[in-house]
Formats: sequence, C-alpha cells, structure tokens
Amino acid sequence: MTEIGITAPPAVGWDIHCHTVFSDGTETPLTLLRQAKALGLHGVAISDHDTTAGWQEALDASREVGLPLLRGTEITAADDDVSVHMLAFQYDPTNVRIREMFASTRAARLRRSQRMVALIAQDYPIAWEDVLAQTREGERTTVGRPHIADALVAAGVYRNRSEAFSGAVSSTAKYYLPTPSPTTREVVAAVKDAGGVIVIAHAGDPQRNRNLLSDRQIGRLIDEGLDGLEVWHRGNPPEQRERLLGIAAKHDLLVTGGSDWHGKGKPNKLGENLTDDATIREILRRGVRL
Ligand code: AMP
Ligand code: ZN
Ligand code: FE
Ligand code: FE
Repeated sequence: MTEIGITAPPAVGWDIHCHTVFSDGTETPLTLLRQAKALGLHGVAISDHDTTAGWQEALDASREVGLPLLRGTEITAADDDVSVHMLAFQYDPTNVRIREMFASTRAARLRRSQRMVALIAQDYPIAWEDVLAQTREGERTTVGRPHIADALVAAGVYRNRSEAFSGAVSSTAKYYLPTPSPTTREVVAAVKDAGGVIVIAHAGDPQRNRNLLSDRQIGRLIDEGLDGLEVWHRGNPPEQRERLLGIAAKHDLLVTGGSDWHGKGKPNKLGENLTDDATIREILRRGVRL
C-alpha cells in the first residue's frame, strides 16, 4: 500500500478538468489548447458539463496546435442527498445510454434554469432571453447557473460571475433549485457501457455540499467500476486530499488532478492542478480508441 501523505501533486503533466463555451466556460476549445500549449502542459481534456458537443472542435484545435487531447465530460449526478460531479473520459460518444442520459439532464437543466430565472426575475431585472444571450454556442451550450450569473452581471446587478454566485445564484439563496440528475450508479454503469473511464470530480469539496460522499458511498461506486478520484483540485482541502489518497491507495484507484478552468468565469488558473503522464497513459489504455 502507498504511504498516505507522501504522494504529492504532480509538477508537470495534463490538466484534465477544463470547461469551454460548450458549457459554462468563457473560452473556445481552440483558446484552451493554445493557452495549454503556451503554459507547457503535456495535454488537456475538454470536460464540459453533460455534453460531447465540443469534442470535434477540441480535436481540430488539438491537431492545429499540436497538443494532445483527452475527450471527456463532467457529468451531473446525485447519490442520495449528495450532488456529485463525475468526470468521464475516452468513451464512445455515440453510445445510446450516454446520449439519452445527457439529453435528459440537459433538458432538466433548461427547465430548472428557467424556473430559477422566473423566481429571480421577481426581485432582479432579468428575463430568460437575457440568460440565453449569455450562451455562446446556442442550443449546443449546456445551460446552468453560470449563464444566469452572467445575465445578472450584464444587467449591472453584480460585478462578476463569482459575486453572483455569492448572491442570487448561490445554492443557499432562496431562488436555488437543484438539477434533477441521474444517480452516480447510473452514471458509472453508462460510462462503463460506453467503454470509458470514470472518476469522481472534487469529491472532497465542502463548499459544494453540506454532506460529502462517505467512504461507504465511494466504496459502493468502486464495486460498480469507478476508476478513480480527482484529488488535485483547489476545492479539496488538505485533510480531504489525505482521505481520498487513502481510499485510492487501498483500492488501487487512479488519482487525477485538474484546474476546473472556466476561462474568465472563475478564478481557477489553467494548469493549476495536474494529472501525471503515467495516469494519462492508463486512462488511454482503459478507454475506447477514438
Ligand atoms: P449548475 O451546475 O447549473 O448548478 O451551476 C454550477 C456550476 O457553476 C459548477 O459546475 C461550477 O463549476 C460553475 N461555475 C462557473 N463559474 C463559477 C463561479 N464563478 N463560481 C462558482 N461556480 C461557478
Ligand atoms: Zn462548470
Ligand atoms: Fe464540478
Ligand atoms: Fe467543472
């Protein structure tokens, strides 16, 4: 068993948690690849929320820039009362189970965002059209609270997206509605069915949830085929990193890292957290050939 606490975050490698205009990032896949190249990263993953819509553009950009790419998605899920994000990599994007899951989550996100905007509009000067105006890829964009936040910024209510996330679009605000999501178990099964690799994103981030996933909940997902845990993420505090590294060592899981870059939408810097090259090779070995 690996000794806990010794494993350090990689100093070089890949950033495999990045959002673009195909969900709630502010930059295109080409900008992602160019900036990653300029930073000297070994590669990146595109991991927009609940979609593969940006994969082709990211692949074209990867070829143009000459930087390797992993194709991924951050999938919205729930495990009892815990809202969970899961990172899926290198799976078959035509898999029917996956496609249906994304279609239903994206439709649920739209309805939920519209309802939230109706509530917010009682107190603030925004309408649904203002939110749609913030989506950069039209219907291909996965809509969420960041677009509502951007609409509030455009209306002059807040100075930036993060300020809106501390205000009207916060998960503790009276306007908040959860997104109806598939269970973590369904997500693991669907990604495995599609031949991919599945990792729990920022599993120890106390900001996201009042309750974190318990060891037992993570254990159940490991039994069902979970491949790894995203340990190197700014949301995971030191004691959670220790805990997650302990679970990973015990069950021989992959340990990943990523910035959760959203361009100008979040303070997270591209490349601030990385995944080492050996882990990337293992993800490529386990995933489908694309
Ligand atoms: P939603 O999934 O619609 O509930 O929106 C939450 C998402 O907003 C999370 O995935 C966050 O990563 C994302 N997000 C983007 N920008 C920000 C920000 N500035 N502050 C907080 N969350 C943000
Ligand atoms: Zn996001
Ligand atoms: Fe996330
Ligand atoms: Fe993310």
